[in-house]
Amino acid sequence: CAAAVLVARQQIKGSGKWAKVESILRELEDECWAPTAKLRQVADAMAEEMHAGLDSDGGSKLKMLVSYVDKLPKGDENGVFYALDLGGTNFRVMRVQLGGKEGVINKESDHVSIPPHLMVGSSHELFDFIAAALAKFIAKEGEDFKLPPGRKRELGFTFSFPVRQLSLTSGTLIKWTKGFLIEDAVGQDIVEELKKAMERVGLDMSVTALINDTVGTLARGKYNNPNVIAAVILGTGTNAAYVEKIHAIPKWQGPTPKSGETVINMEWGNFWSSHLPLTEYDQSLDSESLNPGEQIFEKIISGMYLGEIVRRVLIRMAKEASFFGDTIPPNLKSPFILRTPVVSAMHHDISPDLKVVGSKLNDILEICDIVASRGARLAAAGIVGILKKLGRDTVKEGEKQQRSVIALDGGLFEHYTKFRNCLESALKELLGEAADNIVVELSNDGSGIGAALLAASHSQYLQVQES
Ligand code: BGC
Ligand code: MG
Repeated sequence: CAAAVLVARQQIKGSGKWAKVESILRELEDECWAPTAKLRQVADAMAEEMHAGLDSDGGSKLKMLVSYVDKLPKGDENGVFYALDLGGTNFRVMRVQLGGKEGVINKESDHVSIPPHLMVGSSHELFDFIAAALAKFIAKEGEDFKLPPGRKRELGFTFSFPVRQLSLTSGTLIKWTKGFLIEDAVGQDIVEELKKAMERVGLDMSVTALINDTVGTLARGKYNNPNVIAAVILGTGTNAAYVEKIHAIPKWQGPTPKSGETVINMEWGNFWSSHLPLTEYDQSLDSESLNPGEQIFEKIISGMYLGEIVRRVLIRMAKEASFFGDTIPPNLKSPFILRTPVVSAMHHDISPDLKVVGSKLNDILEICDIVASRGARLAAAGIVGILKKLGRDTVKEGEKQQRSVIALDGGLFEHYTKFRNCLESALKELLGEAADNIVVELSNDGSGIGAALLAASHSQYLQVQES
């Protein structure tokens, strides 16, 4: 992922405007620069903060939240389970039919994009919307998925925001991220809010698991591949979860589960270190955001923000170097107008036509390249931080090497090929020969299927059958 674009800037070379454009680009490149040594410092800081967050609540910017998921799906789960997935721009309802060893034999889902006013409205309105979509989905089923008498439909709820879990089926919202801001929901039990809304629409289902999308992705990944040890989301937001030994969690309270392990939701989006390469664009983006001072790692990595960073660079080039001519394109003035999928599409457009369109696009391309590379490389450093914490980042002399698989999900990883390639090569760069035993793997739809799987592995009815 070395700078991909060095073509055709000749046309405007020599003009004063070009000099200004060039200096803005070079400054951006300098400030975003994340060489191997810096990435190592970030990985070290990540591993250190993980320890601090596990020591005590509030001990670190990394919350290291206990998920109460202490057993991951084994692969023999059976039956029909439901999932709700709330956390990005879309909301989904899903039904998954699990066929034991045969795996997922059927799934069906409804997608609804969340009306923007609901993202900043009241808790009541948001949960009414969710419950109504769920009720509609169930109503469509008719008699097809009728359960035996006395048995309720069971639901895994993926709620992809920081939640302090009280148990697997309850937890209070710590704060909103990713453009959501519904103040009266903060501090509330999310499952209670959902249950109340389900009652209002006359729906009787039981919530078997409340999970983060990273935890769902981990469950989904492990269902397919037992070597999965961690999951990372690189989508609208970013975060990671991994399996931790109870004895390595000093803040753990209560009895030790049979497995001796639990899943930790790191909430790495809120990671911060003085080693992060930050720019003036990041600073203004942050201070004008809905959550200033928070989610700094997320704001330089994830899909919600990459396009916005590029827009901020372009605005400066428009103002200071008349990059788009004498006037600033009015559209460019709207925050968040430049979406990351567009950035990704531009970044991948290496068609010969581009040479014809000229140097301007090349400059835009270079901005995309700098900003996306920084994000991808930092995400790689985060992954290495986790491996370091688990002692899996080096090859140990005379020991049989364990294979470590990281399950990844999210549009940045799935669809933004340059981002993904850059992340993978930064991992190799950081891990050296240990890279041979470390695999990053797309784990699709963890927040849907993973939630249904966890609903299944924690099903009240299946447990009764087991014992
Ligand atoms: C949230 C996390 C979530 C991540 C990816 C972040 O903004 O805080 O809980 O896992 O986005 O969806
Ligand atoms: Mg999602």
